[in-house]
Amino acid sequence: MDIQVLPLPAEKMKQKAQDETKLSFGRQFTDRMLLVEWKADQGWCDARIQPYAPFVLDPSCLVFHYAQEIFEGLKAYKWADGRIALFRPEMNARRFNQSADRLCMPDVPEELFLGGIEKLLSLEKEWIPGAPGTSLYIRPAMIAVEPVLGVKPSSHYYFFVILSPVGAYYSAGFNPVSIMVEDHYVRAVPGGTGEAKTGGNYASSLKGALEAKNKGYDQVLWLDGREQRYVEEVGSMNMFFVYGDTIVTAAMNGSILSGITRDSILKLAVSLGYRAEERSIEINELMDDIRGGKVTEAFGSGTAAVVSPVGKLCFKDEVVHLSGGTVGAITQKLYDTLTGIQTGKIKDEFGWVRF
Ligand code: PMP
Repeated sequence: MDIQVLPLPAEKMKQKAQDETKLSFGRQFTDRMLLVEWKADQGWCDARIQPYAPFVLDPSCLVFHYAQEIFEGLKAYKWADGRIALFRPEMNARRFNQSADRLCMPDVPEELFLGGIEKLLSLEKEWIPGAPGTSLYIRPAMIAVEPVLGVKPSSHYYFFVILSPVGAYYSAGFNPVSIMVEDHYVRAVPGGTGEAKTGGNYASSLKGALEAKNKGYDQVLWLDGREQRYVEEVGSMNMFFVYGDTIVTAAMNGSILSGITRDSILKLAVSLGYRAEERSIEINELMDDIRGGKVTEAFGSGTAAVVSPVGKLCFKDEVVHLSGGTVGAITQKLYDTLTGIQTGKIKDEFGWVRF
């Protein structure tokens, strides 16, 4: 599908950050955005790259009332040789369409999803920061814009992509995070939307996250929504626990988001000589194993931080510490190798990088 490029008036050009080491996450956006519409009687139409601008939407639009919305998150890296690298973006395209299916939204053809991102990036490449640890965060999303009240799939959607230059996640070195295991609220239930990347999952997680923050914890670890007995995932990360030379993460069960970093770490760990297990993790057993010293490290995985070491876990008022507050050797090795592949410092044996 042809993507029209609309002119960008000189007065719309934004100021880029003077100091790339001070970039924060998701607060500044580039000059242009991709916008494609889907209408029930036409399918995908009116693809354009236009100046970044607010939408003018009718207050009755379905997305505002019934949350028919999905999104994705990935990053573009500027390599030392000037090439622009994406990390497994076809996985984001696939997950976007899985989310679309769950929310009764139209499938975005992979060539439109990836081709649109690549064309937008080629126009906005000056916005990709080059300082160590920085990248351009890419946020594709789809919203239901039919102006009507009534619960039903929309007959009109916007698929759009915006870009945000982001700073080094660990500018002052790895920061082990503290995590509270949530035993009251749940994030997702079997048969629900936990496996989809849809805004509602995040809206319903706010209350638990806020209460955890008020108790001094950075993140919430969600348990399963049926028995609140099995570990699922953290706010925007999958969780790994290290038992000696084995990394363990919760098996996909229909209510956990299938993280692309999670999948990459499982494959990378095996290639580095560790063992990797996907299985159910019972919270009481996990606490026993941490207390007994069987679990030596824990970390979260996700696009934003890549790998996030966990230093402290609290469950039902009992606090346990991991790795003596430092970063475990396996956590560090996985972080170094994965970020090395993403930034071109380590050879990509997996064919994950796309230019
Ligand atoms: N779980 C949730 C709920 C998330 O929002 C994310 C971030 N997309 C992840 C896990 C990690 O997924 P990924 O590695 O694809 O970023």
